[in-house]
Amino acid sequence: MLDFDIIIIGSGVGGTGVGAILASKGLKTLLIEKNDFIGGRCSTYEKEGFKLDVGVHNFGRTSRGPLGKVLNMIEMQDAIDWVLCRNPGPRWFYQDKFWKFPRELKEIIPESDFSNLMKLFKDVMKMKNFNDLERKSARSLLSQYSENNLVHTFVNILSMLYFVVPYYETSASEFVRCLSSLSRDFSMGYPKGGCISIPSAYIQGIKKSGGVIQTNQSVKKIVIENDAVDGVELENGKFISSKIVISNAGIRETVNDLVGKKYFKGDYLQEVDNLKYSISALTLKVALKKPITNFKMVTSFSLQDPEETFNSLLKGKVPEEVFLFVPVPSNYDPNLVPKGKQLIIAGTPVPVENFEKNRDKWIKTSLESLENIFPDLSKNLMWYDVSTPKDIADIGGKEASVIGLAQIINQTGNYRPNPNLPIKGLYLVGGDAGGWGIGTELAAKSAIDCSETILTKYPKLI
Ligand SMILES: Cc1cc2nc3c(=O)[nH]c(=O)nc-3n(C[C@H](O)[C@H](O)[C@H](O)COP(=O)(O)OP(=O)(O)OC[C@H]3O[C@@H](n4cnc5c(N)ncnc54)[C@H](O)[C@@H]3O)c2cc1C
Repeated sequence: MLDFDIIIIGSGVGGTGVGAILASKGLKTLLIEKNDFIGGRCSTYEKEGFKLDVGVHNFGRTSRGPLGKVLNMIEMQDAIDWVLCRNPGPRWFYQDKFWKFPRELKEIIPESDFSNLMKLFKDVMKMKNFNDLERKSARSLLSQYSENNLVHTFVNILSMLYFVVPYYETSASEFVRCLSSLSRDFSMGYPKGGCISIPSAYIQGIKKSGGVIQTNQSVKKIVIENDAVDGVELENGKFISSKIVISNAGIRETVNDLVGKKYFKGDYLQEVDNLKYSISALTLKVALKKPITNFKMVTSFSLQDPEETFNSLLKGKVPEEVFLFVPVPSNYDPNLVPKGKQLIIAGTPVPVENFEKNRDKWIKTSLESLENIFPDLSKNLMWYDVSTPKDIADIGGKEASVIGLAQIINQTGNYRPNPNLPIKGLYLVGGDAGGWGIGTELAAKSAIDCSETILTKYPKLI
């Protein structure tokens, strides 16, 4: 008799999502998490009465995208209370002014380029042949519409926001899928309670269906017998049996460390080794004595040569002004902060290598860039907390990347690693396998795809 039908390693959005779906189908499910908190990169912690995301989050499609679909599948539609980014909607900060997208960009982009950009946005809604786009970059797609520098800067910033990858590497197919679904759903927002509300809702789903959650337990090994999964061994030596193991620990960690290279063919190991990850991020969580903005979400940027800027960033060079992604969580949910206070979170992409040597400069420049957006920042500052690439690596592993595998040419659509790894009973979920979308939505879509693959392959389990 097996201990469990399914063992899941890791409580990120992918792990908790797939666990909730499979447990709701009656499968005896165990989820094991090495940290003493759940959620991986989509987690929230408390400091002096403020609830802070470990990263910096805003959610593209909320209840209408895969994050909501997982809840529909487990009949817990209302388990997350989303607040949409409306009244005021998102703003862009460029040349010391706030801009509404897309209408007001008209004032700064030459007329013909603006109408061509709008045409691109309209065309993406109709594009169907993703195979043709799979081997094209977002930049080459854009170049069919405009060569204006500001338009290119703007689309590159969109690509960095969505994928943390520059637009000349991003696959046009993924860019089109994400842009069109975001426009169609028009439901960007943030959950009450902080980003941890998402994995918490899925965990609630697992428990509701009789599943078991163990935190503070690290899986040391996925045990293979006769070329098939037999269970897992914990760090404390305990063996737990199951014929299906789903890893949320990342493809490299799963293949190389948890299973072991000897169980895979050389060319597969080489493929895994060649995969590229999205880069990392620095986030500042800024606690303020009183509200200094009513915006829910601001993105700041300056005119740039995208390729030069990204190459310089990879070398660890700190620019004079950084591009910032700035959700204001307490404007979505005032209960995230003590009464009358405000929380602003700001994130900027940084390299994993070369970050530490300029750590202080990155933080100083990011704070200055944030103060440029909100001039009342320092006089209302109580304190700020920082998360660096090292913190992201400690929480989620996966090369300290923001998303997981980079959504670049040759790594999206059918070229993405399959959730079904080449060992019987071994699956992967989250930012490193299957699915499409932005960040957590990619992980949730991967959970849906992974659950469907398993349920089709093992119908007798239901
Ligand atoms: C700074 C930052 C900003 C972001 N901004 C956004 C945003 O605005 N919008 C958005 O949608 N997404 C955003 N993301 C991305 C999003 O958070 C991630 O893509 C998503 O949360 C990844 O989920 P995952 O399923 O891949 O799991 P992960 O979050 O990677 O979790 C994996 C879990 O597995 C556990 N684990 C690993 N190994 C073991 C083991 N051996 N035993 C037990 N447990 C193990 C880890 O502890 C971890 O909890 C951001 C991420 C960061 C870091």
